[in-house]
Amino acid sequence: MQLPVRAAHDEGSVSLVAKKAAPRERLQGMTPERLVERMNAIEGLADNERPTLDEARRIIAHVVQRGSDVGLGVRNVRASARDAAFAHIGVGKLELVERHASAVDPFVKYLFECEDGARIETVRIPLHKEGRFSICVSSQVGCALGCRFCATGTMGLVRHLAAWEIVEQVRHVSRELKQEGLGRVHGVVFQGMGEPLHNVDNVLDALDVITNPCGVAVDGRAVTVCTAGIVPGIRAMAERGTRARLAISVTTARSDVRRSLMPIEKKYPLSEVLDAARAFVAQNNRLVMLSFALLAGVNTSDEDAAALAEAIGVGTDRALPVRLSLVEHNAFEGTAFTRPSDEEFARFVDALGRLGVPVVRRYSGGGDIGAACGQLVVERP
Ligand code: SF4
Repeated sequence: MQLPVRAAHDEGSVSLVAKKAAPRERLQGMTPERLVERMNAIEGLADNERPTLDEARRIIAHVVQRGSDVGLGVRNVRASARDAAFAHIGVGKLELVERHASAVDPFVKYLFECEDGARIETVRIPLHKEGRFSICVSSQVGCALGCRFCATGTMGLVRHLAAWEIVEQVRHVSRELKQEGLGRVHGVVFQGMGEPLHNVDNVLDALDVITNPCGVAVDGRAVTVCTAGIVPGIRAMAERGTRARLAISVTTARSDVRRSLMPIEKKYPLSEVLDAARAFVAQNNRLVMLSFALLAGVNTSDEDAAALAEAIGVGTDRALPVRLSLVEHNAFEGTAFTRPSDEEFARFVDALGRLGVPVVRRYSGGGDIGAACGQLVVERP
């Protein structure tokens, strides 16, 4: 999908043009169907070098589920078809550059280097049930959207990640969990570096592999795609019929304040984003998560609570089924914001409660290793 490009660079505009292209396809970014299609499209291959769908399933399971980088050991696949798949498409690699475990909670942050030298971050999040983890993946190198409360937004957009580079983040952590006997990947959150719906085709392809029984085999309902509000991307998600949850970073429903915090509001106002979310819910049948990064003195007033209740249509026939997740601002170098005091936080929760907006307070861990929401950034993208 081609997203419209903004040429102007007046305050608050965003350029959606990537500076570099993503590297080519690799096996861990493909469903078995896609592998068959790709191998059939390669000219000059003998018939016995083109995997059948069953063979493609075994190849993908061998690479993604068992975490193997080589063809040796794939069972019940003709050697000619196996060798051709590994020779023509192959397994891509993200090199682990740094790994930081939090000293205050069980979060782990990974810094990976891509084949072209671009660097991205990934976070391993422990879930309440022991042995289960969610992986917060990056979908782009940097981000074009420039939200003022987010470190990634200071980088600008370098490039989109290919589907395989997104899956590889999950494959790497999954392999590590198995090797250390710690558990398994239960969920995936597209909330790392980048705006996932600005890279919607690759994100949806990655989602197909993550939820495929031959791929990572995560239940689609345990996947969340978090957007700042790219309307065509929400529509594309609905068209694909995904079971993943949609999350929208709202931050405030007061459009003047939102414009100053999230330049994307100028292109896609929140009212349009929420209309797209209503259409998404009609297809997906799951409530939408709305997230607020709470900024002291900026978006925690009674006016913010009232604007949000109005925007989601609480008590009306256009009410959007939502849960609001509140997360306090996480500091990063150069940020102009601070997190609200406990009193300010409680006052805002009370105001929302009085208006009938259901709220959850989200713990964003890994703050000491720069792994919390809004903190991901790399010095050398
Ligand atoms: S909050 Fe998300 S969309 Fe906004 S700048 Fe950060 S990574 Fe990009």
